[in-house]
Amino acid sequence: MNPRQLYIETVGCQMNVLDSEMVVASLRKRGYELTHELEQADAILFNTCSVREQSENKTYSALGRLRQFKKRHPEKIIGVLGCMAQKDQKLVFDRAPFVDLVVGPGQLHQVPDLLDEIAAGSGPKMAVSLGRRDGTLDEIKRSHETFDPLRDPTMRPTPFQAYLRIQIGCDKFCTYCVVPMTRGPEQGRPPEQIVAEARTLADQGCVEITLLGQTVNSYRYASGGKTTRLADLLTSLHEIDGIRRLKFVTNFPKDMTNELLTAVRDLPKVSSYLHVPAQSGSNRILQLMKRGYTVEDYREMMGRLREFVPGAAVSSDFIVGFCGETDDEYQLTAELVKECRFKNSFIFKYSERGGTKAAEMLPDDVPFEVKQQRNNDLLAIQNAISEEDNQAFLGRTVEVLVEGPSKQQGADAGLAEEGHVLQLVGRTSCDRIVVFEGTPRQVGQFLPLAIYDVSPHTLFGAVLTHEHRPELSEFAVVRLQV
Ligand code: SAM
Ligand code: SF4
Repeated sequence: MNPRQLYIETVGCQMNVLDSEMVVASLRKRGYELTHELEQADAILFNTCSVREQSENKTYSALGRLRQFKKRHPEKIIGVLGCMAQKDQKLVFDRAPFVDLVVGPGQLHQVPDLLDEIAAGSGPKMAVSLGRRDGTLDEIKRSHETFDPLRDPTMRPTPFQAYLRIQIGCDKFCTYCVVPMTRGPEQGRPPEQIVAEARTLADQGCVEITLLGQTVNSYRYASGGKTTRLADLLTSLHEIDGIRRLKFVTNFPKDMTNELLTAVRDLPKVSSYLHVPAQSGSNRILQLMKRGYTVEDYREMMGRLREFVPGAAVSSDFIVGFCGETDDEYQLTAELVKECRFKNSFIFKYSERGGTKAAEMLPDDVPFEVKQQRNNDLLAIQNAISEEDNQAFLGRTVEVLVEGPSKQQGADAGLAEEGHVLQLVGRTSCDRIVVFEGTPRQVGQFLPLAIYDVSPHTLFGAVLTHEHRPELSEFAVVRLQV
């Protein structure tokens, strides 16, 4: 029998990228092969995001474009997975009646069986987890299963980098956010499972692991009278041969302990890159968001972070135009960005989400144009800081892990041809992107680069080569065209 063909599109955060990797791995075991052509696919899956309305609109538009396609090919199975599936549930079938499958992020292990049932003529299927008020905490937790032991190196962005989930769900309940509803209660995975998975990844040739959790630094796992926290986990993972870099995202400001900062400082494989979203610079807004800290708390955390890990790169998320945000309150956010000098910030216009406290209690009353204007303004402030701070890299040598061809170069460009010179992208331990010219052989390697130019988001470098011939015994900067 010919292998069945799977087409999958993923939007959203790293968690979704990892979920898709797992779904693909489980479907390969059932004999599926990946295809990039809709026409060839037997199953078409969308792994979705519902954090902002825009992400949902994108998915519904993509589904809308398949309406006629499904009429022509009724045998092809169309599935909606992930956070939007959990949030909208039956609404997905109402808005796109030709969809066959709706599966929430806590039920992804069911995808292979459900696809088989649908192919056998069962009709549409839905598998979602319990809502946050639909059972006891244990029942709800059990209905949000982690789906992690399977790994499929071929589905990763690169074979030498991997995400590793250490925590699912979230209990912070920020008033604007759907994640506690779509991903369920916060649960830490057992440390032994995490370490075993990291070993498997290292055996597969993975050199960089990024630990994932919505509030990754709140990670805790209690068993047999012992509680394991993120700092302990990093210490165990640090010992695994083959792993050369460890990162973790996303941090919650209030859970940034001195123990964790000490681990970041003392464990050389741990990147000194910390993503710690502040969301706003106004105490009134932070309180309305129910973030559980004040701007003063955030400043105190930043002070400790800078003291423990001097030179750390810190990035943040901000929401502009949250319910009732005044100009003065927005200015406080701009002040915080100037003061903290983040490496970069992800800036979002507030998007009201059904089912959240903010949607229930607070009017979404900042006009779109004002949100847009604040977004542009904050981005300009951040970009100026990023560019200024990147200037400090001019003339310096940095070590990068080479990730692959640059976007400009195109994903597969030239990789087949050994010796071919192409534009590559590498990333420093502090998460700075460096563009340089190199060869396909260098992908996956750690390389020293001399930085000769910078922009707000990119450093431009040239490979430092070491010639062993006696007449060329010193480091030579090979300046390639970029
Ligand atoms: N758990 C992470 C944290 O607390 O920082 C972030 C998770 S969320 C998927 C990523 C970012 O999306 C948030 O930090 C926030 O800035 C943004 N976000 C979440 N809900 C939003 C909403 N309703 N409107 C606009 N941005 C939102
Ligand atoms: Fe959402 Fe807040 Fe949880 Fe982050 S910490 S996932 S923003 S509820």
